[in-house]
Amino acid sequence: MKTAVLVDSKKAVPVGKILCLGRNYAEHAKEMKSEIPTEPVVFIKPSSAIIHDGGSISIPPFSNELHHEVEMVVLIGIGGKDIPRAKAMDHIAGYGIGLDMTLRDLQSKAKKMGLPWSVAKGFDGSAPISGFASKERVKNPHNLTLSLKVNGQPKQSGSTSDLIFPLDFVISYLSSIFTLEPGDLIFTGTPEGVASVNRGDVLEAELNGVASLRVTVH
Ligand code: MG
Repeated sequence: MKTAVLVDSKKAVPVGKILCLGRNYAEHAKEMKSEIPTEPVVFIKPSSAIIHDGGSISIPPFSNELHHEVEMVVLIGIGGKDIPRAKAMDHIAGYGIGLDMTLRDLQSKAKKMGLPWSVAKGFDGSAPISGFASKERVKNPHNLTLSLKVNGQPKQSGSTSDLIFPLDFVISYLSSIFTLEPGDLIFTGTPEGVASVNRGDVLEAELNGVASLRVTVH
């Protein structure tokens, strides 16, 4: 059973489903030559994809192109169905930083053929997550810097103020499709600057003042 850790209370919560948003930053949609969406792009990773701070990601033998996507991750504390926007933020337990690791070669092929992204996005190790800061510690989750360094070099940097679909909307929208449950995670999308990683690389992700994560690739 994979868990998410609330660092303030040291509570480990079993992870349910991992809901992910694609193209939730305009500059990333542009770099992927994708349309800026008018409705959220949603996909799911299995909880088996999770690894934690200090862990390592294996590039699977069926891919030659593993990309990093640094993302703010929300941990759901209170479940619900058809959650209204005005109440949505009450359902959050905490905030962390994560990497939506993506087998870009397989994803590009799947996109071309109109096939699902499950392999490209859900393989073992595809969801590194930090510990989660309790929501009480985060005054404004829409004004946080998220960043990623690879081998000490800055690769991605963005602000959650640029989210196309803000968290209250996302939670309300997702809960109209999937009943949210305590322990569910939401990967909220990546800013621009995604690129490939190689064996031996060290990835350091940060949600400034809130959470950090370090993983290696092998
Ligand atoms: Mg992503």
